[in-house]
This record gives sequence, structure tokens and C-alpha cells, in this order.
Amino acid sequence: MDALAPALSVRDVTKTFHTPEGGQIHALDSVSIDIADGSFMVLLGPSGCGKTTLLRCIAGLESPDSGRIDLRGQRIDDMPVWRRRVNTVFQSYALFPHMTVAQNIAFGLQMDKVPGAIIKRKVGESLDMVHLSGLGSRKPSQLSGGQQQRVALARALAKEPEVLLLDEPLSALDLKLRRGMQSELKRLQRETSITFVLVTHDQDEAMAMGDQVAVFNAGQIVQVGEPREVYLRPCSRFVADFIGEANVLTGALDTYGLVIASVGFVPRDRLIADTEADLGQVHVAVRPENVSLQIDPVGSATITDVSYVGGDMRVEAIAAAAGTAANAAVNIVSRVPSQGVKPPRIGDRVSVSFAEGSLTVVAD
Ligand code: ADP
Ligand code: MG
Repeated sequence: MDALAPALSVRDVTKTFHTPEGGQIHALDSVSIDIADGSFMVLLGPSGCGKTTLLRCIAGLESPDSGRIDLRGQRIDDMPVWRRRVNTVFQSYALFPHMTVAQNIAFGLQMDKVPGAIIKRKVGESLDMVHLSGLGSRKPSQLSGGQQQRVALARALAKEPEVLLLDEPLSALDLKLRRGMQSELKRLQRETSITFVLVTHDQDEAMAMGDQVAVFNAGQIVQVGEPREVYLRPCSRFVADFIGEANVLTGALDTYGLVIASVGFVPRDRLIADTEADLGQVHVAVRPENVSLQIDPVGSATITDVSYVGGDMRVEAIAAAAGTAANAAVNIVSRVPSQGVKPPRIGDRVSVSFAEGSLTVVAD
């Protein structure tokens, strides 16, 4: 195996479904992604954007119309499911209800004709790994939802796959259990060095878990990067809006800076340093924590709302230069730690400024 080959390489994979009404759904539209060996990749996107379809194509439960998929340099998209060293954990856990926990975990190994003594050891090890030692003789119905989830994980890990696919594995758990399982999954991935590909529609989960996050929209991967990179430098309005809260503003860019109608002039150094964009009309995204609203009797904006989110104060303002049409008004959101800050009041006039290197040009 080439040491530099990605664990998983997906090239131009397309999948179209035909609906009974005679319509077509382009579930995957020329999707390409490389997933590094031993990494934790999160596929993030709204419901219906094609995430499950991509996992199913990788697992072999669905075959792509075109494109190819390689696992450690070997083509797998034409291989039967059982020959792919890929395992999947489904949202529904899919445990066998009539088997004990240990039998559930052993089942796949028995199918692979692994000798009994080795199965016994692997079942023990994988139960240890998910902290369920001692519960091997229970039936799934005698376990909590969180414990059943762990059994599903233990079963998948026992087969020592090269890639573990996880389709919204935590969405049935309540928030507190979910947080716990998020760090648990991170630990398991680090300890096993198995490449994990986890699907979620929850951006906080993606940010908390991924070494890399791939953002999906309507059958396409629109951006791949480290969570921080995707958060601070979204490539498009869609990514900016989907991940956290963003101000997306329109302005005229020249070599000195940006003029945003109703807001004012923004010096060039407020843009991320190596931003390359054609001069002229651009859209920029800026996170609320990089927006400052200062009380200013001649400021361009007026406070419209003040609220508290966690330890932060979230302030909304509307900027509307005198004499401009109402539809030229711009809404701006700012978020600052609330401690020691004198809260503004609705109706206060403020000037708007941005942190250095905080605006990024985005596609519309
Ligand atoms: P996600 O997992 O991101 O929510 P899916 O991959 O399940 O999205 O689905 C992508 C699109 O393909 C959706 O519009 C869905 O309705 C459609 N789809 C998925 N599977 C089938 C199928 N077997 N037949 C028809 N349409 C399907
Ligand atoms: Mg899905």
C-alpha cells in the first residue's frame, strides 16, 4: 500500500434516483473527496443532501451511476459488500433482538469463519473498549439506548474495519448522553486509529468531532477543511449560514477597502490577509464575535434587539443611511462576552466596526 494514499478516495461519484412519479433526484452530483488514513472525517449537511447515499455507496449498499471509490489504493465500488473492509453503524443500531450482546458482537466474526477462541477474545476486547464489560449476556432490550449504541459500536469495531462509517449514530440520544458519546467516539477513533467517517446534520457536533469537516449541499460537497477553517473562512453564503451565525454583507471592493452601503467604509486590513477577490461588488461573511457596535450619536446603525446567549450578549442592529430606500437597510449581529459590558438599549445609535482580518469574501 502507498503510505500516502488516502484511506478512502471518492472520485466524481454520481447517483440519481428515479421516483415513482417519474421524476429524478440527483442525490450525489459528482462528489469527490479524499479522506486521510486514521483521521476523523465528518460529513455535515442539511437533511436530504445526500450524506446517507454517499455512505451507502462506500459500504456497497448502493452502487454509483458513475465515478469510482478506492480504499487504500484499491478500487472497491465494484466489489461485493462483504469484501470491503468497511463497517457501518446505523442510527437505528440494528442489533439482533433475540441474541445476547456477546452473540451480537460475535455474529459477524462467525460469518467470517474466525476461530472460536479468537472470537471470544475479540468480543471481550471490544466490550472493554466501549466500557460494557460484564453485560455480554444481556439482551439488547435489557440495555438503555446509550448502551445499545455502544454495542453497535463494539460490533463494528470487533471486525477491525479499515474504515468505520457512522450514519447519525448519536441522533437518538438525549443531549447530555450525546455530548458524552461524542468524546467517547473521539477516544475510540484515537485508540484504534481506524478511519472514521461520521454523518451528521448538527453543526456543533461536526465542529466538536471532526479533524476535517466536509460540508454538503444538494448532492455536492461544497467545502472541506478543519472545523476552524470552515468556520472562519466559509467559501459561500450557504456554508457561512449553515455553520454558526454569520453576517453576510454586500459591498464594493477596491484596493483600499470595502464600501458597504449603509454601513460605511471598511479598511482592507479588516479582510483576512490573503483574501483574493476581484475588485467590484463582493459578498463578505463575518462572524458576530468579530463585529463591534459602539455607542455613537452619529453612528450609521440603530440597536434593534439585545439578548443573552450563554455568557454572551447578542445585539442586533440595523444600518440604514439617511435617504436610502428601506430595502437598502442592512441587519447586523454582534456577539460579545456580557461580563463587564454596559448593555446598549434598543434605539441607541451605534457605529459598526470589524476586527482585523475577520471578513472573508464568499460566493453568493
Ligand atoms: P441525507 O442522508 O443527507 O438526509 P439521503 O442520502 O438519504 O440524504 O437522500 C438524498 C436524496 O435522495 C433525498 O432527496 C432522498 O429523498 C433521495 N433518496 C435517497 N434514497 C432514495 C431511494 N432509494 N429512492 C429514491 N430517492 C431516494
Ligand atoms: Mg441520512
